[in-house]
Amino acid sequence: MAYSPIQFQQGMSLPEFLQSFGTEANCAEAVKCARWPGGFSCPRCAGSAHCVLGSDSRRLFQCNACRHQASLTAGTLFASTKLPLTKWFLAIYLISQAKTGMAALPLKRQIGVSYPTAWLMHQKIMTAMAARDAQHRLSGTVQVDDAYLGGERSGGKPGRGSENKIPFVAAVALNDKGRPLYVKLTPVSGFSNDAISKWAKSNLTPGADVLSDGLGCFAAVLDAGCAHTVIVVGQRKPRDLPQFKWVNTVLGNLKTMLSGAYKAFKYSKYADNYLGAFAYRFNRRFDLSGLVPRLIVDVCRAKAKPERLIRHAELAF
Ligand SMILES: [Zn+2]
Repeated sequence: MAYSPIQFQQGMSLPEFLQSFGTEANCAEAVKCARWPGGFSCPRCAGSAHCVLGSDSRRLFQCNACRHQASLTAGTLFASTKLPLTKWFLAIYLISQAKTGMAALPLKRQIGVSYPTAWLMHQKIMTAMAARDAQHRLSGTVQVDDAYLGGERSGGKPGRGSENKIPFVAAVALNDKGRPLYVKLTPVSGFSNDAISKWAKSNLTPGADVLSDGLGCFAAVLDAGCAHTVIVVGQRKPRDLPQFKWVNTVLGNLKTMLSGAYKAFKYSKYADNYLGAFAYRFNRRFDLSGLVPRLIVDVCRAKAKPERLIRHAELAF
């Protein structure tokens, strides 16, 4: 196999991680810095003068002007958690380092919590990853392909007749040397003109140049002010053409992750999370040592999501 500088880059080692985030006080400080990078700001009156009551993750910030008390974790994914922040941070670390995905079972073993707790932590952290990447739009040259979660070939083209099957758009933005920059994997209601038009408006920057095979619905990217180039595939499969090399590589990596770490899950509920978390990691593959602190900031800034919303989520198109 050819040498890849990406595969051999230095990540953050476990001792380095524990040095920075091994105590409750350090984790609490990291949450504070992520939430209020310019110093505390009262959520009610935006005042900055305050006093601190309590310590570590139980800290309360009391505003001097309006006396409002804000807890360190209120409104975040850590709100109402009974676990120490050190366990949450260790989970973030393990998820960020697991190249082919981290399932709830090994997570449970490594952080020493029950299976339902590990499962929920995993879902919450993936929610934060997906939410962060949803804000990003692709521009420049973008390869797209239609793909399905579920069926015989997870992450690949469809087999027919599976109920637990979710269509999604796989899109890869390339730099001017033709190398992949960013990936987006977005569940859609189907491959109709309406669905692709809606997808393009919220995921592409106007002016992007979209490259697809002859599937008719992709022409709907014109609605979002994008250009569209069709590559005629003829008898061959799009996956055999060099023009679609990167989108196929990404789908191959996704398939490896799904068959390795996650045997099965309910795609209609959790597709957003798994696809978003995969893309989040892929999009930051050039900076593995920076991945941990960045994910910590993104998780600390993510909005609280109660368990019932995670468990009863259905895809919204
Ligand atoms: Zn205030």
